[in-house]
Amino acid sequence: MRLSRYFLPVLKEDPKEAQIVSHRLMLRAGMIRQQAAGIYSWLPLGFKVLNRIEEIVHEEQQRAGHIPLLMPTLQTADLWRESGRYDAYGDEMLRITDRQKRDLLYGPTNEEMITDIFRSYVSSYKALPLTLYHIQWKFRDEMRPRFGVMRGREFLMKDGYNFDLTKEDALHAYNRHLVSYLRTYERMGLQAIPMRADSGPIGGDDTHEFLVLAETGESEVFYDSQITDLKFGDREIDYTSTEQCRSILEEFTSRYARTDETHDEAVFAEIPEERRRTARGIEVGQIFYFGTKYSEPMGATVVNEKGERVPVHMGSHGIGVSRLLGAIIEASHDEKGIIWPEGVTPFHVGIVNLKQGDASTDSASEALYRELKAAGLDPLYDDRDERAGAKFATMDLIGLPWRITIGPRGLAENKVELTSRRTGISEEMSPADAVERLK
Ligand code: ATP
Ligand code: MG
Ligand code: MG
Ligand code: MG
Repeated sequence: MRLSRYFLPVLKEDPKEAQIVSHRLMLRAGMIRQQAAGIYSWLPLGFKVLNRIEEIVHEEQQRAGHIPLLMPTLQTADLWRESGRYDAYGDEMLRITDRQKRDLLYGPTNEEMITDIFRSYVSSYKALPLTLYHIQWKFRDEMRPRFGVMRGREFLMKDGYNFDLTKEDALHAYNRHLVSYLRTYERMGLQAIPMRADSGPIGGDDTHEFLVLAETGESEVFYDSQITDLKFGDREIDYTSTEQCRSILEEFTSRYARTDETHDEAVFAEIPEERRRTARGIEVGQIFYFGTKYSEPMGATVVNEKGERVPVHMGSHGIGVSRLLGAIIEASHDEKGIIWPEGVTPFHVGIVNLKQGDASTDSASEALYRELKAAGLDPLYDDRDERAGAKFATMDLIGLPWRITIGPRGLAENKVELTSRRTGISEEMSPADAVERLK
């Protein structure tokens, strides 16, 4: 992309409404625009990152054997009356009436609808195990929408639902989700710690929340510092192996890590004092096992091997896709702007032409731009007629992990400068070597 042809409405001033750094940087970098409280347009740069995050979530879900589909945002109230949640859900639910005076709602989550789909088609245990998921917009009429996309009213969520014959199988699905989530967040450059949590209006017995540590997080968390040494890394996972999934769950949940809802001072006090941590965290996902809570009232049953009709065991599993942008920025920025982890960056590299209009720097920049694209990379070429300082400030603000600077002096010796956004370290090399390094 050429910056002169792109739509990147960068703000010079700090927006007053932003209380936290990720919100401020997303507005300044021209990623989002608020249309109403907690409702945002995703401008091209923000939309690009949102898509990259979605792609990672899709890849990791499908790697774990989960199947994508797409359910609508609008749901009928009748479906929710079957589970008893229509009245129970309260003011967070946006209720809508159509011209036929039928009660609809903008889905805050999809347990009822997916259970309805399941019961309409599946009647034999042979179809199990089954996990269906989608990435779809949700609406929750939050009391205090704030912090930009972190607590929106309209927000994008990946929500997945497992259907299993037995509790044991459903617990494997739970463990499998925990493993796939660990991988998902690490690919985004995030450490998200699974913490024992409270199930809230979804209901159920077992649940973990995934928290990214950040001062601006809305949850208070308590943990054993040893947990932050754990890395998922690039281990090979066989998602059909109950043993492997369970042992990874044990590895990542055996140390104390809880949100304030489940925190137990007495148990916490048993950890050596120097390892006890109290901090704040951003909830970027949650997994639940809730057994037959929805399948029983809604009649989602299968016939088992003995010919008996039994309700299926279920769980649901959510990732806050749009909230993740804020969480990643909270975890990765400096005073100049965002620092995107390579896994989610909107462009791989920025090209800064220090002397736009100079025949040699223009043609070298153009050639580099073409070669980076030919190498399968997605570069952003700042071809505007702007001062070097302004170009650097824009690149730093939007946080691309690499910048290539092309100026007449270096070019005389066939040299460009490759700079890492994270370390600030620059190296001189030939344009060809720069392409090679970034490939
Ligand atoms: P919170 O405690 O922050 O209100 P939640 O526990 O109500 O979140 P879940 O029902 O667990 O949310 O939904 C799954 C994920 O969706 C959450 O872990 C979070 O990352 C994301 N999410 C929930 N509410 C919002 C929101 N208002 N804006 C953006 N993301 C959200
Ligand atoms: Mg909530
Ligand atoms: Mg919560
Ligand atoms: Mg939650």
